Amino acid sequence: MDGSAPAWLVLSGLRPETLHLITSMAQSVIDALPTKVFAPARRSIPDLLTPLDKQAAVDSANMVADRGARFRRDGQTYELPRYVFTGPKGGDDLIRVGIFAGIHGDEPEGVYALIQFLSLLGRRPELAAGYCLFVYPVCNPTGFEDRTRHARGGKDLNREFWNGSAEPEVRLLQSELEARAFQGIISLHTDDGSHGFYGFAHGAMLTKSLIEPALQAAEQFLPRNGNETIDGFRARNGIIRDTYPGVLSAPPKARPRPFQIILETPQAPPNYLKEAALVAALRMILARYREFIAYAPNL
Ligand SMILES: [Zn+2]
Repeated sequence: MDGSAPAWLVLSGLRPETLHLITSMAQSVIDALPTKVFAPARRSIPDLLTPLDKQAAVDSANMVADRGARFRRDGQTYELPRYVFTGPKGGDDLIRVGIFAGIHGDEPEGVYALIQFLSLLGRRPELAAGYCLFVYPVCNPTGFEDRTRHARGGKDLNREFWNGSAEPEVRLLQSELEARAFQGIISLHTDDGSHGFYGFAHGAMLTKSLIEPALQAAEQFLPRNGNETIDGFRARNGIIRDTYPGVLSAPPKARPRPFQIILETPQAPPNYLKEAALVAALRMILARYREFIAYAPNL
């Protein structure tokens, strides 16, 4: 190729020699090229948690990285990451709320949102005033590493609760749910089939008074899914009262029933909007529930 290069070649950024190599490549060479399917790298949980562990080291008065929760799968020991954030005293006993994300390993939005949320609380602990928050950002560590919905054992962990499951993650989480006797349980999820934000509300009656303001808070960042049917369930204003059997939830015999909210972000929007919407919803739930407790401490 001599003289001036054609415009498309200049635009392509390819040098004429490189182009020549490609166009003159024999078919046998092309066929011999490795055809490995592109596989994204396994995610690193230690890398993910480094900022939180640093925060806990600096701000140990409020936040503790609790390394004690472990489970074994296929002969290997894994950790269920667990952070306990204690807000400034609100007067009476601290309100115990469990916040869970990443039980579906291919839904990292909630995981990242909880990291943002804890970092926010580190800067503004008063947002958690009166609370003891038990935060489980990666409930399905092997699925998160592998970027799969299911755990490495092949099961959807969020259909395995309170039905005698042998899944080690589920058994460990169940023991946490029993031991902590949470007054509220919040789970974060992503729905790749939804155009908007929505949630499931079950448990205590007041749950619907918490989820509506939470969806309003999220609406500052993402539209709400107003469909009459969402994910096969009847929905009203983005709120579903039903749920799948076996989802992460309070022990069946727990009384009084805690409030139980599942927040679902759509998958398509940019990460910062999804994280902002989830964090805004969490802040709103904590603020609202604190008010309820202040007016009716026996709820
Ligand atoms: Zn999910």
